[in-house]
Amino acid sequence: MAARVLSEHYDEVVVVERDELPDGPGHRRSTPQSQHAHGLLGSGRRALVGLLPGLSADLAAEGAITPGSGDPAMGDRSLFVVRGGTTIRIPSWWSAGFAASRVLVEHAVRSRVRALPNVVVREGTAVLGLVTDRTRSRVTGVRTPGGDLGADLVVDASGRGSSLPRWFERIGHRPPPVSVVHSDVRYASVVTEPDPSFEPEWLAVLGGQAESGSSVGGVVLRIEHGLLHISFGSVGGGPPMPTDTAGLRDFADRMAAPVVAEALRRSTPVGPVRAFRVRSNTRRHYDRLREAPRGVVALGDAACASNPVYGQGMSVAALSAIALGRVLATGGGAPGFERRAARAVAATSAEAWRLALGEDLRHGCRTEGVRTPWTTRLGQGYRDRLERAAAVDPEVASAFNDVLNLHRPVSSLGSPRIARRVLRPLRDRDPGPLSATVATVLGIA
Ligand SMILES: Cc1cc2nc3c(=O)[nH]c(=O)nc-3n(C[C@H](O)[C@H](O)[C@H](O)COP(=O)(O)OP(=O)(O)OC[C@H]3O[C@@H](n4cnc5c(N)ncnc54)[C@H](O)[C@@H]3O)c2cc1C
Repeated sequence: MAARVLSEHYDEVVVVERDELPDGPGHRRSTPQSQHAHGLLGSGRRALVGLLPGLSADLAAEGAITPGSGDPAMGDRSLFVVRGGTTIRIPSWWSAGFAASRVLVEHAVRSRVRALPNVVVREGTAVLGLVTDRTRSRVTGVRTPGGDLGADLVVDASGRGSSLPRWFERIGHRPPPVSVVHSDVRYASVVTEPDPSFEPEWLAVLGGQAESGSSVGGVVLRIEHGLLHISFGSVGGGPPMPTDTAGLRDFADRMAAPVVAEALRRSTPVGPVRAFRVRSNTRRHYDRLREAPRGVVALGDAACASNPVYGQGMSVAALSAIALGRVLATGGGAPGFERRAARAVAATSAEAWRLALGEDLRHGCRTEGVRTPWTTRLGQGYRDRLERAAAVDPEVASAFNDVLNLHRPVSSLGSPRIARRVLRPLRDRDPGPLSATVATVLGIA
């Protein structure tokens, strides 16, 4: 997405990619996370489609369910968030993203970006470091095994393993201050093909913890060609994750929402169970650097990699590319551009980071260098109540959904209108019109 944005501002954009890229939707070595369920948020979908009109149709043509696909079965189906035994019905799925796998979304984006006349992709080429001018105050390109590549602007979009802080030090600059949350996230995932008789009334089920406050959750996403991507994850350590289908089934049986176990039972794995572990999540504060080299900007996970279980990363990466584009449009070469760009990128991840941090703190995760706003700690009691209110009040559910999808800031949940609904007694409220099937599936009939 960064390349797409840069293509509007530079004559030539060179994407330097370490991996050999697959021709179609496929996994690759440097992005092992693609083996695990990836939900795209509504804000991310809007960002992708805004930058790449036609993307929705491309995905639909590849078997994904999209707002534009006109699939009558999917007209107005809902997304459910089930956490700690609480069921939240999100009124409209389409405020969220596509029903597609990460590899398909990546492939669709890559195909469109590759087709841009001024974008060149050098695959199978690792960036090894930065090239600077004599004063070492300006980055003038990158080092690769095949020689140096010159550039007016270097954009680091190399993901959560970014070496940019180390490269800054190598050229005599301070690395950015970092905030780290030791979330110790563990994943186990499988892709399955559901039995023909299994006709779910939902596109995604998120959460589904074993019990209130549990750090283990399950997610079932419908993806292209009618397949399901089922992932279990734990935050803050948690029990060992299953490594085979039998283990996954045991795990699923412990979820509060029977739908997770049912999805697994009524479908056949089409590949092995994959495991993954992310020990910590890092926000690199390039925006707080007093002095940084000119000619270089970091975005996406390279700038802020928050806890993946909240499904924000792809959306934040797309939003940060758009933010970079906005700053470029108001003076790419002007003095102070890098600082303004770093601030704009940081602003796009601030809400996501805060949301993830609030949740991670609930799970007792240790932090380093993290400024925790007092509202984050104070807000936890309110958040518990908000989730209970969302389960019975569509207006609260909708407001919560807007925040989770990064359409609106967390502070919107404290507006007088929402606060009144959250704080009033819940007991006498009507849980709203859940269909009998849905209620049964979710185990709340
Ligand atoms: C288990 C797991 C589950 C997740 N689930 C979700 C989800 O549900 N929803 C969501 O939105 N996000 C999710 N994420 C996060 C998401 O994967 C990332 O936030 C997103 O991929 C970030 O995009 P990026 O472009 O910044 O980095 P990446 O997608 O990691 O891409 C980095 C690219 O840089 C290349 N590269 C790296 N180093 C070099 C180098 N030195 N030279 C050349 N190329 C290099 C890599 O090959 C790669 O192609 C999840 C992550 C994990 C780990």
